[in-house]
Amino acid sequence: MKKLIFLIFTLLPFIGICQNPMIQVIIASRKKPLPPDSVTITVTFSNTPNSASSDFAEIKYNKEGIFNFEIDDNKSQCLLMESILSNFHYTDGTGLNHNYTAATAINGYTFSGIEIGQNSGTGMIYAEYSTLISSGWDVMNHSNRHVDLINSNGINIIGYKEDILTLNELYFNNINYTINCFVVPSNYTNFVPHADELGFLVSSSSGNDPYKPAFPASVQVGTVSNIVSPDSGLIQLKRGFLHNWSDQAHINGFISHFKNMVDNSSPIDNKFYRVGTHADNFSSTVFTNFIDSLHNISGDRIWFTTAREWMEYRYCTREVVKKDTLIGNTLLIQLNYDQIREDIRWRDLSLNISTDATIIDVTFSGNADSLTYNPNSGLINVYKQNLIFNSYLLDP
Ligand SMILES: [Zn+2]
Repeated sequence: MKKLIFLIFTLLPFIGICQNPMIQVIIASRKKPLPPDSVTITVTFSNTPNSASSDFAEIKYNKEGIFNFEIDDNKSQCLLMESILSNFHYTDGTGLNHNYTAATAINGYTFSGIEIGQNSGTGMIYAEYSTLISSGWDVMNHSNRHVDLINSNGINIIGYKEDILTLNELYFNNINYTINCFVVPSNYTNFVPHADELGFLVSSSSGNDPYKPAFPASVQVGTVSNIVSPDSGLIQLKRGFLHNWSDQAHINGFISHFKNMVDNSSPIDNKFYRVGTHADNFSSTVFTNFIDSLHNISGDRIWFTTAREWMEYRYCTREVVKKDTLIGNTLLIQLNYDQIREDIRWRDLSLNISTDATIIDVTFSGNADSLTYNPNSGLINVYKQNLIFNSYLLDP
């Protein structure tokens, strides 16, 4: 039955029914988890401090810079890339390793109307996404058909919003994952205001879009602090595009930009750099060498992650309500997540403790997965990942 409903929904663009009223009804019926959703951290000091307080780190794990890597169009090379990236790690500032991750930007159907996830050879099939997601990768919405509302190829979508939602519903039904980041297909920037309205956190593109300022404006390396109000709507993030994996001079240009990002990043001035690709002329040897170069340059100062994880961290540091209470030699940090949107996957938080005393123990209770800490630097990481989504719709 679910399949039949979905089939009808998918066919709507071709039978010409206006979908707007239907979509509004579905949005009104979305669910939200019941409160309370909270975590309490207990920091114990060797003696009663004169002062002790906590602040969210600007960048997760106190990293100095951020790198994102995105592969468009359901490319099956993602599986090989994942196995290579999982050999490279950064630490969380307390000694725990995390493997490098990336994001795959996907379509639901080919130009000729074949459902990609069901047809091996047209791109990754549905079962293959679980490998990527469980390895820390994210999936981005790249439009259902990779075509525009008005174009000359003979296949047109009925509406931008409907197209975005159709893809979200398709992958929610098949891989139980809710997508909240968008990658502009070709130069079809008319999708972007609709992605914003639907609650998408990010629109990623190499091109220009007059809708909103993009970060960085015109250079490859961006400054994190220039991105304001991450929780007030979609952020447009630019990226360089690595077209050809058989052209070493071309690849070296990206390594050079990465080095520029690392060289200009510091604990008080965080830079970012982002790269997209179609994996054309892909070679696992060339890719391994590329990642190895980035790894050697980064010196464990770079957060090698997805735009989703980055933006959700920024969102959580603004929306989680934090309360510090110092009682004797104990600092209680209460974190309340009740206002966090249900589509937020990465709810981890990094906190820095400021105190004149020595930390001897940190424990937690409540709804977190785990906690790590470094008693010398005062860094605490709370891990809290959500992969049970209630709907393919976002909760803006
Ligand atoms: Zn594409």
